[in-house]
Amino acid sequence: MAKVLVLNASYEPLNITSWRRAVVLLIKGKAERVEHNGKHLYADFPLPTVIRLRHYVRVPYKEIPLTRRNILHRDSHTCQYCGYTGDDLTLDHVVPRSRGGGDAWENIVTACVRCNVKKGNRTPVEAHMYLHHLPRKPYSSLYFEVSKHLKSGLHDEWQKYIIGL
Ligand SMILES: [Zn+2]
Repeated sequence: MAKVLVLNASYEPLNITSWRRAVVLLIKGKAERVEHNGKHLYADFPLPTVIRLRHYVRVPYKEIPLTRRNILHRDSHTCQYCGYTGDDLTLDHVVPRSRGGGDAWENIVTACVRCNVKKGNRTPVEAHMYLHHLPRKPYSSLYFEVSKHLKSGLHDEWQKYIIGL
């Protein structure tokens, strides 16, 4: 069922919620409808796709777990050395573990099996294999989640509330 993007009173994206929860917030007067997709819950009540809270809430930063799935998503399921996209992707430590490279967003990238084997136990400079994008920590867990929804193509109307994706 459809998800709803919740904006803070400041119009910054806050979280993603279910349409049921969004409807409750609207009925209670805690939020206002910003976008809807033309579908109706009942007459005169369009189903929201974006709502905005009437009162500003402060949110703490939430860490994004460093998992294989999340790294593949950050790198768009693309080998960062040759641009290959496919199923048999691996994770590569840019600076190999044996050379002191750690498990960090900045040191792990998506690589195809061929590039991973070719690079072996070397740094990109030693192997003359250069990264298409410098790996970095995702901006925020919300932006990370929202980008997954945008990639699915289901929530194009969210795009204008998300800056920097
Ligand atoms: Zn490759």
